[in-house]
Amino acid sequence: MRLRYDEADEEFRSELIDWLEHNSPSRELLDSDKLSSAWLPDWVRAWQQTLFDSGWLVPGWSPEFGGRNATAAQQMIYFEELSHRRIPRTWNPQALGIVAPSIRDYGTAEQVQRFVVPTLRAEIAWCIGMSEPGAGSDLASLSTKAVLDGDEFVINGQKVWTSGAHHADWCICYVRTDPTAPKHKGISALLVDMKSEGIQCRPFPELSEPDFFDFNEVFFTNVRVPAKNMLGELNQGWHLTQGSLAHERAMLWIDYAYSLQRAVQGFVDLGSRIGPSGTRLGDDAKFRDTVASFQIDSLAISAMGYRGFSKFMVGRSSPEHSLLKLFGSERVQQCILAATEFLGPDAIDLGIEGPRMWRDGSWLIQYLRSFGATIPGGTSEIQRNIIAERVLGLPR
Ligand SMILES: Cc1cc2nc3c(=O)[nH]c(=O)nc-3n(C[C@H](O)[C@H](O)[C@H](O)COP(=O)(O)OP(=O)(O)OC[C@H]3O[C@@H](n4cnc5c(N)ncnc54)[C@H](O)[C@@H]3O)c2cc1C
Repeated sequence: MRLRYDEADEEFRSELIDWLEHNSPSRELLDSDKLSSAWLPDWVRAWQQTLFDSGWLVPGWSPEFGGRNATAAQQMIYFEELSHRRIPRTWNPQALGIVAPSIRDYGTAEQVQRFVVPTLRAEIAWCIGMSEPGAGSDLASLSTKAVLDGDEFVINGQKVWTSGAHHADWCICYVRTDPTAPKHKGISALLVDMKSEGIQCRPFPELSEPDFFDFNEVFFTNVRVPAKNMLGELNQGWHLTQGSLAHERAMLWIDYAYSLQRAVQGFVDLGSRIGPSGTRLGDDAKFRDTVASFQIDSLAISAMGYRGFSKFMVGRSSPEHSLLKLFGSERVQQCILAATEFLGPDAIDLGIEGPRMWRDGSWLIQYLRSFGATIPGGTSEIQRNIIAERVLGLPR
């Protein structure tokens, strides 16, 4: 099957490129330090609002939400061009990728009115409270509970790994509302104002950078939330965790494909350096073999991604996307590790352009950062379980 863009799609691409060239923030701003995934300095808010106001933030959405009803192929073009240029459309990805579509799809008319456009325009920053000390991969075991008291829920419990919580204005918090039901069936989602009394955020640093705080432990002690802030139906929160993001999921692999391409290019560029043994790295047959194998895998990821996307376009399901997260995130990591091993101690200081939307940093730092992609949204082991059971049909 061959994916081809038609003339209208290529016109869409030209319009987008032209717009990006005239409107994108400078490379210097795009690469400037970020403090957390919910910290939105003025220029970040202004950039997201410019995208929204011009119909380029969520082009696949309808115009009432700032979109332009772009087709799936046009959305693919959109993600290709942004990834290729390393231009983020938001610095609060959980809000844009998960919160806004969830409220649009599951919220009451009042919730949609109150939250969707302000979230898209970066007027509100969000965090997502799913993981707990005893509930990560097995999210359905979460134990933070909410008890209805009059027209308010009262939340008690603890979340962990909550990205950006200390800067977020609001949180989608998953809570147990029926402790007697089977574990998948007693969960609800609440929209919680992070300024509510009884919430304590304790930010903690990243493994790769002791001065970078994105993760938080978040403690809820008798936090009162209006019952009208429940998202979706009571005890039906599990459906929300499965999301309504099929379209974006079908295109997320593009980020991994470009990440690997960048990492491979950085690896190739090391060929002219003198390695720890005193000879040029590129003269070493093992170096050449290793680089070539990553280049082949980089092409394979693109081929597999477009193959899956072609099927998606004609309404067919494809197993490709479950394979791509695992293969993509792990190959990026292995590529950076291999380059680091060839470099030896130089990997500590020698810089590499961030392979994804990350900041630049040394090869060693990028290696530490690369673990981040293999854990959220289902760890590599969980992805292997999914592939074994749902794709290959092996017994549970
Ligand atoms: C960059 C990043 C951002 C994150 N942001 C958020 C956020 O904003 N909000 C939020 O709620 N959470 C967030 N998380 C947390 C993330 O969702 C969890 O880390 C993830 O679900 C794994 O849970 P855990 O850390 O508790 O590990 P566990 O689930 O305890 O797993 C520990 C190890 O056991 C393995 N394992 C577990 N179960 C199985 C199994 N059935 N079969 C085989 N192996 C298994 C896992 O693969 C892993 O290697 C984030 C994590 C990262 C890395």
